[in-house]
Amino acid sequence: MNASAFDVLVVGLGPGGTSAALAAAQAGLSVLAIDKRRTVGEPVQCAEFVPLTMGRYAKPALVQRISGMRSVLPSGVCEHSDFPGLMVDRAAFDQALASEASKAGALLRVQTALKAVEPEERMVILRGPEGDVERARYNILIAADGPHSTVARAVGLAPLKTVETRQYQVPLCRPYTDTDIWLSDEFPGGYGWLFPRGSVANVGLGADRHLAADLKMPLERLCAMLAHDGVVGMEILGRTGGSIPVSGLRAPLVHEDIVFVGDAAGLTHPITGAGIASAVVSGERAGLAAAAFLGGDAGSLEEYAQDMQDEFAESLARAVARRQWLMERWRTPAAHLDATHKRGWIAFREYFAP
Ligand SMILES: Cc1cc2nc3c(=O)[nH]c(=O)nc-3n(C[C@H](O)[C@H](O)[C@H](O)COP(=O)(O)OP(=O)(O)OC[C@H]3O[C@@H](n4cnc5c(N)ncnc54)[C@H](O)[C@@H]3O)c2cc1C
Repeated sequence: MNASAFDVLVVGLGPGGTSAALAAAQAGLSVLAIDKRRTVGEPVQCAEFVPLTMGRYAKPALVQRISGMRSVLPSGVCEHSDFPGLMVDRAAFDQALASEASKAGALLRVQTALKAVEPEERMVILRGPEGDVERARYNILIAADGPHSTVARAVGLAPLKTVETRQYQVPLCRPYTDTDIWLSDEFPGGYGWLFPRGSVANVGLGADRHLAADLKMPLERLCAMLAHDGVVGMEILGRTGGSIPVSGLRAPLVHEDIVFVGDAAGLTHPITGAGIASAVVSGERAGLAAAAFLGGDAGSLEEYAQDMQDEFAESLARAVARRQWLMERWRTPAAHLDATHKRGWIAFREYFAP
């Protein structure tokens, strides 16, 4: 079987992979970027909040602005913080980046799954929409394939620890510009959220699967409470969920000629679950590093890994430490105390205290 050959092969067309494909194609490289999904960005598995720094990328997908965050403690005490950001249509966000990558010359293929990697040969085996199997050669492989990276597994790297989430989209009864967060032993290893999205809201929760096997009942209780308070309607307009990596930065970030970005690199914040911005930043940086490497700069991939360390390691390490601290307290009397949650949530100065 003849193999096609590309400078860069990108696996995954989420924000990490689309950004990597765009940067690499703009740098003049030949790029094949694949995703096993039928349509880029769908189904959405996201609460759809991005920080203001993502404004440029959010423009084609902007739904509404967010000004603050209300963090509700177990006692019912509520802390209001400034927390400006944007709510986006996440499918449109990913699709806009994919469209730019395609215009820049990247070849994008959906319904195409990575099945195996042969790193010594710099070769991958792909399966297309009709079950057709194809081999492709790469010089650099960018693994942007999410929290359960197939690439990592294929080359024998350890899986990342994850928490699980469940989210409903429900009607929103009045305009809302805050994100609401509930901290409670009801959501061990995670939290509950309401993120407003125009006339609807994404209401969801995350929890550690070792501590909470069932996410459905606590989510339905949260929705029922909000409906009772007249915040949301009872109708469930959509259901989603997914995994969030919580073990911090993958080590190594570069393995042979493979560069990990976004969730596959463990860049998602282990306390908040936010990962869109770090996926875009790492994807762009990986695409540029690939171009520099193939242009003769032998140290550029290691420099990528160092840049990610410099930019994200400190905040990820703090989040991993706070998570670990909380994990020792869930399902104990301490999990009902406001003080415990103040130490474990980014809205409180206790979170940042040594
Ligand atoms: C319920 C939920 C809510 C969230 N809310 C927010 C939020 O509000 N704000 C925020 O910043 N972050 C949020 N996140 C996290 C955010 O969605 C991720 O951090 C972000 O999507 C990471 O982007 P990525 O490109 O690294 O990976 P992904 O977006 O996961 O993309 C990976 C892609 O790889 C593809 N893929 C996987 N395996 C293969 C394979 N073998 N072959 C081909 N393709 C493959 C997948 O189909 C997928 O399209 C949330 C996550 C969840 C689960």
